[in-house]
Amino acid sequence: MATINDNYLKLKAGYLFPEIARRVNAFAEANSDAKIIKLGIGDVTEPLPEACRTAMIKAVEDMGDRSSFKGYGPEQGYGWLRETIAAHDFQARGCDIDASEIFISDGSKCDTGNILDIFGKNNKIAVTDPVYPVYVDTNVMAGNTGNINEKGEYDGLVYLPITTENKFIAEIPTQKVDLIYLCFPNNPTGATATKEYLKAWVDYALGHGSIILFDAAYEAFITDPSLPHSIYEIEGARDCAIEFRSFSKNAGFTGTRCALTVVPKTLKAKALDASEVELWKLWNRRQSTKFNGVSYIVQRGAEAVYSEAGKAQVNALVSFYLENAKIICEQLTGAGFEVYGGVNAPYIWLKTPNNLSSWDFFDKLLQTVHVVGTPGSGFGAAGEGYFRISAFNSRENVQEAMKRITAK
Ligand code: PLP
Repeated sequence: MATINDNYLKLKAGYLFPEIARRVNAFAEANSDAKIIKLGIGDVTEPLPEACRTAMIKAVEDMGDRSSFKGYGPEQGYGWLRETIAAHDFQARGCDIDASEIFISDGSKCDTGNILDIFGKNNKIAVTDPVYPVYVDTNVMAGNTGNINEKGEYDGLVYLPITTENKFIAEIPTQKVDLIYLCFPNNPTGATATKEYLKAWVDYALGHGSIILFDAAYEAFITDPSLPHSIYEIEGARDCAIEFRSFSKNAGFTGTRCALTVVPKTLKAKALDASEVELWKLWNRRQSTKFNGVSYIVQRGAEAVYSEAGKAQVNALVSFYLENAKIICEQLTGAGFEVYGGVNAPYIWLKTPNNLSSWDFFDKLLQTVHVVGTPGSGFGAAGEGYFRISAFNSRENVQEAMKRITAK
């Protein structure tokens, strides 16, 4: 009989969101009249910007004409999209990033998981706790961890707790780690990073030969002009960081699928023979072998995000969700909840009242006011006693959910 990748057996039984779905479905079946409002999973609700739709319709027409038809595109993405991204997202902010260092993909979820393909097996890996679960689970699948302990932590990973005590900003470790996942604005806490804080990480990484895996999926939600949008705004980051970005949350591409990963050509890591190898070459090889590019139609849609009309429409979308976040923060604070995040970020992180466990609070909200959020413990052991509320929903649903919660 064939054998399996036994690492999969180490994974915690239920991934967070299927468990939420199971409880919500069971409740809905038993309470068919209840109008459930879901502020749990971070999926967008508002339609795609018109500029993106128009560009995609035009791209469909291109595909219907022999002279403009496209077959396989470059595995790394079309040059016109990579050039546009390099100019708008990086060079306009003073970041020294070239189009050739940008790889277009069908999602940051895949990229943050797939990136492990190009790293060795003996790296010490640090994650914050709580954290976007994909970073942890993909390391488990890749065999980079031991088993899970009773606290819910995997042996072999270095957990950096983020709690009220450190204002949800992880302390820079005293020990040496090789790979560090950072996510700002943060999922799930909504915390943001200053330039000084990122500089401390870049200095740490340069000093220890570490690589920062910087997830900027929510950078569009930054409105404070003092906050960095990219790790490459920090001097030296070209030599120690990979950045992940996505069109999912700014332009509503969660169902359309388009993202990008930046691997600077100056970034190096060690081979077994101690020689230093450019990570760009490995990622390029990995993508060329295992990936066949994002559809031409979708890439044209992503390009339109940077047109004048696209920029205005994306800004309007982001502002809409940020206004939702503001309403949630104000209403919950007014009702006496201890609330964090929700500014420069679409997630609100609240302390559960009366020291309820995260899942008890989840069940209580579901059963009493029919509102779904995400238990903080699902993002890691240090998330116990916290709860995430997402601002991705219609205004009507957000207002109704807040009315129900604050009336209790
Ligand atoms: N990174 C973080 C921190 C996220 O929260 C998410 C989605 O919720 C993603 C990446 C996934 O993005 P994508 O839709 O591009 O796969």
